[in-house]
Amino acid sequence: MSSLDFIRPAVRAMAGYMPGEQPQGGRIIKLNTNENPYPPSPRVREAIAACASDEVRLYPDPRATALRTAAARRYDLPLDHIIAGNGSDELLAIVMRACLDPGDRVVYPVPTYSLYDTLVEIAGATVVRLPWPDDYALPAGIAAAAGRVTIVCNPNAPSGTCVPIEALVALAEQVRGLLVIDEAYVDFAADHALRLVHRYDNVLVLRTLSKSYSLAGMRIGLGFGQPALLAELGKVKDSYNLSRVSLAAGAAALGDVELMHAHVARVAATRARLTTALQALDYAVPPSQANFVLARRSGVDQRPVYERLKAQGILVRYFATPGLADALRISVGTDAEIDALLAALPEIATP
Ligand code: PMP
Repeated sequence: MSSLDFIRPAVRAMAGYMPGEQPQGGRIIKLNTNENPYPPSPRVREAIAACASDEVRLYPDPRATALRTAAARRYDLPLDHIIAGNGSDELLAIVMRACLDPGDRVVYPVPTYSLYDTLVEIAGATVVRLPWPDDYALPAGIAAAAGRVTIVCNPNAPSGTCVPIEALVALAEQVRGLLVIDEAYVDFAADHALRLVHRYDNVLVLRTLSKSYSLAGMRIGLGFGQPALLAELGKVKDSYNLSRVSLAAGAAALGDVELMHAHVARVAATRARLTTALQALDYAVPPSQANFVLARRSGVDQRPVYERLKAQGILVRYFATPGLADALRISVGTDAEIDALLAALPEIATP
């Protein structure tokens, strides 16, 4: 018998990260983890099928060269400005591993992607949380908070809101530490921050193929930064962090940008319709540039609404945390899925 006292106290004290729940069988409309409702490029299927060979006995390429080459072409950046991760979640973990000693400060506006909290806890570091103002402009004092790492999620989750890229340029000028710009949802937005990578050696831009490219199940993330920064991050990544299948699927997806844009356009049209309908139901919805919206009824706990939707087979995201319990985050599904949600909501959510 052990008392598990070999586990680090910081870990014993953690709640652990909780992603959105997985449906347990049945026909479920899944609008809780911001996946893309449309399928990936047919080229992805072909690439995956081609992996079904005895070559799986060989380790995958630790440098992810084929994937990074496709990314270099797609984003018009040199190969040495790109690092690949097992999802952008792994790239976030790599950043913390490479940058943080216990007690170091990490700064970000909140509410935001809740995994950041977990990763900072694991590192034994300290978070400085700066609340987003009502207009979701970058909080004053973010640079003055002097983070060793500062993170801006843009578009932000769960609000879907964006700060202008000029505000990120100003921040990059001011911060002394690393500025991570988490652009997981940026393909659904009007502008992006990749150009900052040329100008600042302390900026890391993170992307994922999970959302706009419909590849959440493949776990493919990309990081963009100057070569010296990426070389340091590369020292602490798992050697074979992406499988052969993921590397092939990712390269194929990046070669079919047209399909990605077509799906993004469909999601944006449905997002506009969903936003208007939620507002008509008295929800406040900040302008979203992501593939989800945050629907809030100020001061009214949304747990019952979440529970009743779930009972009808519709999963949305409810956060039982201060400042978010009166809101639901709803991923933009197909038109038919959103129609089903909008048919169910009026009765369920009457104030
Ligand atoms: N950043 C944000 C803001 C996210 O919402 C997510 C997805 N939950 C990620 C990063 C990670 O995405 P992935 O690991 O699938 O690339």
